[in-house]
Amino acid sequence: MSIITIERKVLQKNDEVARRNRALFFSHGTFAINLVSSPGSGKTSILERTLQQLKGELKVAVIEGDIQTDLDARRIASLGAPVVQIVTNGSCHLEAKLVEDALSNLDLAQVQLLIIENVGNLVCPANYDLGEAVKVVVASTTEGDDKPLKYPAMFRNATVLMINKIDLLPYVDCNLEQLKKNALSINPGLTIFETSCVTKEGLEGWCAWLRSKMIFVGRS
Ligand code: MG
Ligand code: ZN
Repeated sequence: MSIITIERKVLQKNDEVARRNRALFFSHGTFAINLVSSPGSGKTSILERTLQQLKGELKVAVIEGDIQTDLDARRIASLGAPVVQIVTNGSCHLEAKLVEDALSNLDLAQVQLLIIENVGNLVCPANYDLGEAVKVVVASTTEGDDKPLKYPAMFRNATVLMINKIDLLPYVDCNLEQLKKNALSINPGLTIFETSCVTKEGLEGWCAWLRSKMIFVGRS
């Protein structure tokens, strides 16, 4: 029973810091996204494509959460976007405090869209609010169609579902309609995009959604 109590205290403390982060984002007119998925779903590839599509149009910055390496951050930095790396040293999720610390390396006045790439994990990131406006969950076709049923908390807390690697559908054991049905049974309000970072299918719709969110963010 004491474990439950400790977990609750940790989450309460996290929520306090997340509230501070959210207030900071709001005061700078920064739209913040918490990008979550299992390992290997293509979060970093989606980020790369998104940065390429929005280049010269929106000011985008990235916070990269990784367990051990800065490989993904290097990929993002090569595209010219401001990127801050968080290495969690084994921890399987980002916490609000880690994001708060990372923010001291960014000039939020110059950031309209902040994308926080979480550690690849569909379990605990569902419980750790980082102060984001929305969680975007990525599920790739290579993972099959039952992810929403296995990890309902994450899909319930997400605003957007990106079904990625749509180009591989003919080759993998994934029923696209069933995947969408499973996701919507958990969260009927999900906005769904079907994307491929290889063929670039669906990325324009995703970027249009991002642009539409900029309208609602009041610039300071
Ligand atoms: Mg990655
Ligand atoms: Zn974790």
